[in-house]
Amino acid sequence: MIRTLIALTLLSTSVVAQDFRPSPEIATSSNSLTAQKSIGDDFMIVTANPLATQAGYDVLKKGGSAADAAIAAQLVLGLVEPQSSGLGGGAFALHYNATTNALTSWDGRETAPHSAKPDMFLNADGTPMNFWNAVVGTQSIGVPGTPKLLETLHKKFGSLQWKNLFPSAIDITERGFVKSPRLQKMIDADIGKLDQFQSSREYFYNTNNTLKNPEYASTLNLFKTLGASAFYNPHLIGGKIINATDGRINSTDLKKYNVIERDPVCGEYRTYTICSMDEPSSGGLTILQILKILEPYNLKQDDPETIHLIAEASKMAFADRNMYMADPDFVDTPGASLLNKAYLDKRRELLNDKAQAYTAGDLSDIFTSAQTQIEDGTTHIVAMDKQGNAISMTSTIESAFGSKIMTNGFLLNNEMTDFSFIPETDGKPVANAIEPRKRPRSSMAPTIVFDKNTKPVLLIGSAGGSRIIGFVLQRLIAIIDWNMNIDDAIAMPNILNRGNGLESETELNQSLNEKGHDIKIRDLTSGLTAIHIHDNKIIGAADPRREGHAMGK
Ligand code: GLU
Repeated sequence: MIRTLIALTLLSTSVVAQDFRPSPEIATSSNSLTAQKSIGDDFMIVTANPLATQAGYDVLKKGGSAADAAIAAQLVLGLVEPQSSGLGGGAFALHYNATTNALTSWDGRETAPHSAKPDMFLNADGTPMNFWNAVVGTQSIGVPGTPKLLETLHKKFGSLQWKNLFPSAIDITERGFVKSPRLQKMIDADIGKLDQFQSSREYFYNTNNTLKNPEYASTLNLFKTLGASAFYNPHLIGGKIINATDGRINSTDLKKYNVIERDPVCGEYRTYTICSMDEPSSGGLTILQILKILEPYNLKQDDPETIHLIAEASKMAFADRNMYMADPDFVDTPGASLLNKAYLDKRRELLNDKAQAYTAGDLSDIFTSAQTQIEDGTTHIVAMDKQGNAISMTSTIESAFGSKIMTNGFLLNNEMTDFSFIPETDGKPVANAIEPRKRPRSSMAPTIVFDKNTKPVLLIGSAGGSRIIGFVLQRLIAIIDWNMNIDDAIAMPNILNRGNGLESETELNQSLNEKGHDIKIRDLTSGLTAIHIHDNKIIGAADPRREGHAMGK
């Protein structure tokens, strides 16, 4: 591993605060925005699909732990929501242990294979490749982390036997399942890409409405019997991955894959402590930066001034994200220095009544390498078991249907395109540049919020690429500042800013145009799932923009 020691002042300042990537998945917004919800006393699970929720619910009912339920649900999601996540992808999980009161976070992000090159997504003339040209095919595939993460979560937090987490997934795989309307719509929208590859074409573009996936059944049986070693074994599941990537991923890449336990990133906001995934995800740090910049303000609900403040703080935080955040095992990123009070006070001073453009802040006064630094296509699962253990896990294969290449009955991710396509600008390195074994920067933000008594009160996360940050942020403000019900908070129109314009699902007050905001009205297909522990009830809610489902008892 080559550790890039980057003095922060050397980082290029011309890395634009823009995200040029298209939405990971198309919009299939619901007509009536009412979140599906369930209220329980004992346990709860919410996932992006009713069959996956049922699998998790069955596990919880048998006395399984929150982690067990999330694993069983993930195995089903890889089948029934294959566009979003699966064994060919990566995931991040936050886990709360009710017995020890310990919060841990787990990095199952994909790694770049040995064959990865910093300039692999550049055209011959040095310009970045067209996004889809980079995505479709073997070059975008990172070494999957989800199988190892599921096994790790089970070893640490499982209570049922490993083999007992598989029956639902294997049963549905053999019996077949009817494609959901969203899956069908996404298959239709992917003509020209997904159908370029024989295995994907044969599976997704046949005339059957019911999908059967015997290859996934074999994969599940191997995984059930041998655990993740079957997956990373070049003679078993791994061998087919090596072939499917034309050797871009080799047996050493598979053998070296490891799940990393990292400290979650936490910050106080009003009377709560909000914890989320730290780097290589930018999700937690960026959300916390925005909240800390906003904290001194009274963020009134339904007030254009609040939208203005959230948009400006978001733009500022995205400028820092785009400049600094990356895999901390490869780059000396500022990490928790980005939450330094003096630094954020200075950033807040930049706010005024007008919409402005921001560059990344100067951290040279605050960050030194000796500074304490917290060690450091998508779906979101939340579960809480009878003992009060809780899990918040975001899982992805990046774009819809990932690289579009299917093997072993699952799709391989395109997580490599979450790296910067440009390795350096003005001769200076970009933090999120590609290197073998490095993990691409993510925006995923599996989050758990704690009250004053250090008890979890909210589990939340979303799909949505870099919009995940705005989707989760808005609900944290809705719950904490506006006392909204979780289902209303999830269903409310999305309004966010990723540094390049104010995106909104609803018309906004004219005064925001006058302040200079570049307003874009569009569908913003969040995929939020959440559990709110409120009034001694466990309330699960799923985003009406997708097909999520909450079930509890
Ligand atoms: N690959 C993206 C990330 O890690 C997530 C894509 C999505 O949300 O659909 O940030």
